[in-house]
Amino acid sequence: RTVYVNGEYLPETEAKVSIFDRGFVMGDAVYEVTAVVGGKLLDFAGHEARLARSLNEIEIENPFAEGELLAIHRELLAKNELVDGGIYLQVTRGNPGDRDFVFPDPAVVKPTVVLYTQLKPGVLQSPTGINGIRVISVPEMRWHRRDIKTVQLLYPSMAKMMAKKAGVDDAWFVEDGFVTEGSSNNTYIVKDGAIITRPLSQDLLHGITRAALLRYANEAQIKIIERPFTIAEAQAADEAFLTSASAFVTPVIEVDGAAIGAGTPGPIAKRLREIYIDEALKAGI
Ligand code: PMP
Repeated sequence: RTVYVNGEYLPETEAKVSIFDRGFVMGDAVYEVTAVVGGKLLDFAGHEARLARSLNEIEIENPFAEGELLAIHRELLAKNELVDGGIYLQVTRGNPGDRDFVFPDPAVVKPTVVLYTQLKPGVLQSPTGINGIRVISVPEMRWHRRDIKTVQLLYPSMAKMMAKKAGVDDAWFVEDGFVTEGSSNNTYIVKDGAIITRPLSQDLLHGITRAALLRYANEAQIKIIERPFTIAEAQAADEAFLTSASAFVTPVIEVDGAAIGAGTPGPIAKRLREIYIDEALKAGI
């Protein structure tokens, strides 16, 4: 692959970041993943806006000039001839030259910027997206600013491992009896034709796919109720699904061993997957 590091396009084997970089030492960094389908970027403006917000929340100066981020994405797509997959982007607070908890002076230490492509041929035809996935619930143990998209992904990784060991596909976090979100996605249940999903707050990531999906569902006159829900409600729901830039809309067919609805992808989840993919591709750039 050709990757991007601090203004340069390099073969991945030549790309280097310091051992003192705060992204490495402190997890002091934010990221984005933008889906690429048929050579088009999906929801790019949303990811660009959320990156700006994440950076602002942790006081890292946005390193990108107007239009620059899109130009880098396009250049990476072209150089790697990427058709289906995604672009991963990470901005760290930079390399202060030693380990120190205090933020370095932003006039002296500039952010580290890394982007690379990820290949996923035939991404729309993934078996999980079509057949649905099974999940377990795990206790929510992340910090309380989940609205900031930091690279601090140890607990979500542990949650995925718990799911793997349990023989299922993913984990949903539960806090005070209610689902916050999935390990790397936003979560929904469907009851009596209405979509139920947790409202935005600092408790969960403000998914870009979530925002687009709710817009499209609203246009399709599907009722949306923004409120937290429990695992018991999910198990008694007609359907469940999740959204993310990597999974689009993916049906969820089982939670903690209990089948949801018929135990197969539900009609609303399937319809929303189609609508999302159609509309996001149409709007893709
Ligand atoms: N929640 C979490 C914890 C995530 O990691 C992700 C994916 N990065 C999402 C939700 C979905 O966000 P998006 O639709 O912007 O990919």
